[in-house]
Amino acid sequence: MQTMDSFNFAGKKAFVRVDFNVPLDENFNITDDTRIRAAVPTLKKILKDGGSVIIGSHLGRPKGPTDKYSLKHILPRVKELLGADVEFANDCVGEEAVAKAAALQPGQALLLENLRFYAEEEGKPRLAEDATPEETAEAKKAMKESQKEFTKKLASYADVYVNDAFGTAHRAHASTALIADYFDEDHKLFGYLLQNEIVAVEKVMNDTQRPFTAIMGGSKVSTKIDIIKNLLDKVDNLILAGGMTYTFAKADGGKIGNSIVEDDKLALAQEIVELAKEKGVNLVLATDAKIADSFSNDAKTDFAPVKDIPDGWEGLDIGPESEKLFADVIKNSKTILWNGPVGVFEFDNFDHGSRAVSDAIVEATQKGAFSLIGGGDSVACVNKFGQADEMSYVSTGGGALLEFIEGKVLPGIKAIRGY
Ligand code: AMP
Repeated sequence: MQTMDSFNFAGKKAFVRVDFNVPLDENFNITDDTRIRAAVPTLKKILKDGGSVIIGSHLGRPKGPTDKYSLKHILPRVKELLGADVEFANDCVGEEAVAKAAALQPGQALLLENLRFYAEEEGKPRLAEDATPEETAEAKKAMKESQKEFTKKLASYADVYVNDAFGTAHRAHASTALIADYFDEDHKLFGYLLQNEIVAVEKVMNDTQRPFTAIMGGSKVSTKIDIIKNLLDKVDNLILAGGMTYTFAKADGGKIGNSIVEDDKLALAQEIVELAKEKGVNLVLATDAKIADSFSNDAKTDFAPVKDIPDGWEGLDIGPESEKLFADVIKNSKTILWNGPVGVFEFDNFDHGSRAVSDAIVEATQKGAFSLIGGGDSVACVNKFGQADEMSYVSTGGGALLEFIEGKVLPGIKAIRGY
């Protein structure tokens, strides 16, 4: 299989699918350009080789063409980060795009307008709410055909397809997966970012140095259940923290005050405890909490056992005993996966526990452990603490990373390497 380093792009046109889905403020200023920066090494290598690039991306979830989600807003930053002029095509499959792609010379770049301005990108017809089942079936059939045409058009711009969009690798969309069919196996490859993401996740999941510890935080157990179950077959230690702590505490007969809880998941919590026992996994739950008398940074605070929280109070962070418990496990680990904060880290008064986890991961990493941080909020956490550079790998993927860890085959990856 070709790689970014083995492929010589000289004289070739590359269609590069990137993830430029960056957050913008109301004046269209980019508030975080991490995703653009992440694709720069791939784009630069192609241009430096003497190739040209046609850059495709989505931005937001538009229902059709709209100024709000136009990629023209990010064009200046793309030019700046690439250190090169970049042409723009107002319609990703219009005549202008075709002409501009055809006219590209070695070393030149073209950014296409938002691919999701066309429903064909996702392959889901945009139906009226009152569409009849017949109309729906007809529209779906028509979409299959028009998606083929759309994909073929995008593929026709280039000699080689490069996928560097990990954030959408779990989607079987036109530009993330289907397009790969129009290129033979020597002319489709992963960009540097996607390759690095694959290497990091596979190192953690398949080439595991033990002990392997996963720290799963966040607000709910329901959204993480598939990952938790898959991890139970892989990890030595599973630290479950954050809001889900209280579902476990209540399931075990604890008094949790106003803490966040999923009452319909109490049996599931018990099932996880049993499964962990069966599989010989050391399940680590918080024992104490930093509690608050309201969900606010300025709330009155105290500490309490997680199973004995007074009425009117809620647990918003782990307490000092749990910090030590978690840190001891983490520091003795050789592989670490962290997804989700252990408290409401957005409030400065409740980020201490997540900070303790982050510090312990940094210490373990310095001692040679491999640490993978992924999932939006834990990345925001390590960025808040200024520790991103001290982790082995910080993933750019949210949903894609979680599905990859769940053990699912990602269409964007399969389209290139076959599995
Ligand atoms: P998720 O999207 O499920 O990963 O959840 C992330 C969110 O969980 C963050 O915004 C945290 O503020 C929140 N969170 C973590 N711990 C708690 C807690 N004890 N109570 C309520 N929310 C929490």
